[in-house]
Amino acid sequence: MTTIIVLLIIIIVLAGYYLLSGKRKLKASITATHVVYKPLLAQHIPFYRELDSEAKLVFEQKVATFLAGITIEGVGTVVEDTDRVMIASSAIIPVFGFKDWRYQNLTNVILYPDTFDGEFQFEGENRNILGMVGTGYMNGQMILSRAALIKGFSRAAGRENTAIHEFVHLLDKSDGATDGVPENLLAHDYVIPWLKMIHQEIHEIEAGRSDINPYAITNEAEFFAVAAEYFFQKPDELKHKHPELYGMLSTIFMQDRAGESIK
Ligand SMILES: [Zn+2]
Repeated sequence: MTTIIVLLIIIIVLAGYYLLSGKRKLKASITATHVVYKPLLAQHIPFYRELDSEAKLVFEQKVATFLAGITIEGVGTVVEDTDRVMIASSAIIPVFGFKDWRYQNLTNVILYPDTFDGEFQFEGENRNILGMVGTGYMNGQMILSRAALIKGFSRAAGRENTAIHEFVHLLDKSDGATDGVPENLLAHDYVIPWLKMIHQEIHEIEAGRSDINPYAITNEAEFFAVAAEYFFQKPDELKHKHPELYGMLSTIFMQDRAGESIK
C-alpha cells in the first residue's frame, strides 16, 4: 500500500514538472519568435505599422502565439518567414479587437506558389483559385496562393486582401455556419438589421452604384468577407462612402479602424 502511494506521489511530481517545463519552453519559443518577426511586421504589414507601441507588442505576441499553434506547409514551394508573418497577420487583424480568440477550426495552412484549381473538397467560391477554407474531410485546412497573399499586403492591394478574406470566413464559420452572420460576434438584435444592410448593399452593387467588389453579391458569406477586406484595407474610405456599413463592421470586429491611429 505504502509503495503504491509513494509511486503515485512520484508520478504526480514528475508529471507536474514535465508539464511546467513544457509550458516554459513554449513560452520561451513564443517570446523568441515575436522578436524575430518584429522587423518583418514593420516592413510588410501596414496594419501593424499604424498601431501604437503598446498595441504593436500585443500584435507581435498574438502573431507568435498563432504561429506556435498552426502548421504551415508549402506545396511546390518553401515557406519563408515573410509568408508566416503575412499569414499570421491576416489571422490576427480580424480578431485584434477581441481579448482572446483562438481559431478552433484551423490546424493547417497550405501555401501554393500561385493560383491552384479546386480539386479538393472546399467551400465553393469562384475565387477559390486564390484562397479556400476547407470543409468535409478538409476541415481545419486553409489553402492560400502566395501570390495573392503577398498582393494583399502590397501597395497594389487596394480594397482587397485574400488571406484576410479567408480568415473572416473562418470567423463566420466559428458558430457552425458560413452564412455571413457571425452569431457569436453579433448581438442577437443586430442580426436582422445586418442582413437588411447586406441586401441593400448587394442591391446597390447590382445597380452599378457601389464601389464594393461585385464578388460580394455571390451570397451573404461572400458579402461579409469582401466588406471585411474593405474595412481592414481602406477604413477611411469605407467610413466615408458607406458609413452605416462601416459602423456595423466596427461593432462586429470591435475595432474603429478609421482615423490616424488605432488604439
Ligand atoms: Zn470567400
